[in-house]
Amino acid sequence: MTAASPEQTTRAISSYRGALRAWSRHPSPRLIGLFVLLAAALRSSLGPWQWWDLGMVLAGVALWPFLEWFLHKYVLHIRPRPLFGRTVDPEFARRHRAHHREPWRPELILLPPYVHLTLGPALFAAAWWLMPDRALALSALVGYGLAALNYEWTHFMVHTRIQPGNRYYQSLFRAHRMHHFRNENYWYGFTLTSVDRWLGTGPDPDATPRSPHCRDLGVDT
Ligand SMILES: [Zn+2]
Ligand SMILES: [Zn+2]
Repeated sequence: MTAASPEQTTRAISSYRGALRAWSRHPSPRLIGLFVLLAAALRSSLGPWQWWDLGMVLAGVALWPFLEWFLHKYVLHIRPRPLFGRTVDPEFARRHRAHHREPWRPELILLPPYVHLTLGPALFAAAWWLMPDRALALSALVGYGLAALNYEWTHFMVHTRIQPGNRYYQSLFRAHRMHHFRNENYWYGFTLTSVDRWLGTGPDPDATPRSPHCRDLGVDT
C-alpha cells in the first residue's frame, strides 16, 4: 500500500514548506494573488501611493476577520430551508458541510474558483465606478486581497499535521479544531480568534458540550 499524498489528504503534510507547496498548487491562492497584483497595478497607474493608501490597505486587512466570521456563521452554516414548496440548499452551504464531513480533503478547504471569478470582477467594477475615490478604493482591495490570501493559507495550514511553534498559530489551530471536532456552533473565526471572544462565540472549551453534529451540521444529506 502506498502512503497517501498531499494531493489526497492534508494529513500527509507536516511541514510549512510542504504545506506551502501543496497550497500554492491550488487555483484559489493563485487567483487571489492575481487579484492583489492587479489591484496594486491599477492603483499604481493612477499616480504615486500616499499615506492614505496605506490606511486603506490596513482598513481592508482589518475588515477581513469580521467578514470571515460573519460569512462562516451566517452564510456557510445555512441549513436547507423550504421556499415556495422547494428546498433551498445553496452550493456553498453543501460544500461547507462536505468540508466538515471530510476536513482533510484539500480541495474542500480552499474556496472554489467561481467565487473569485465572480466576486473579483464585481469588486473591481465597484472600486472603479461606484466609489468616490478610485485610488483609495483600489488600495482597500489590495488589503482585502492580502487578508483573503492569509485566510486561505491559515485555513489550509490548520488542517495539516504541522505543530506550530508560535502562539498565534497555536491559538488558530486550537480554535478551528474545536469548531470541527468539539462544537460547530462556536469558533467561527479563522485568522483572529479574538473576534470569537468579542462576538460571544469563543467560550471556554472545557465548559462547552461536545456536539454530535460537528460532521453533518445537523443535516442528513
Ligand atoms: Zn476547516
Ligand atoms: Zn464551519
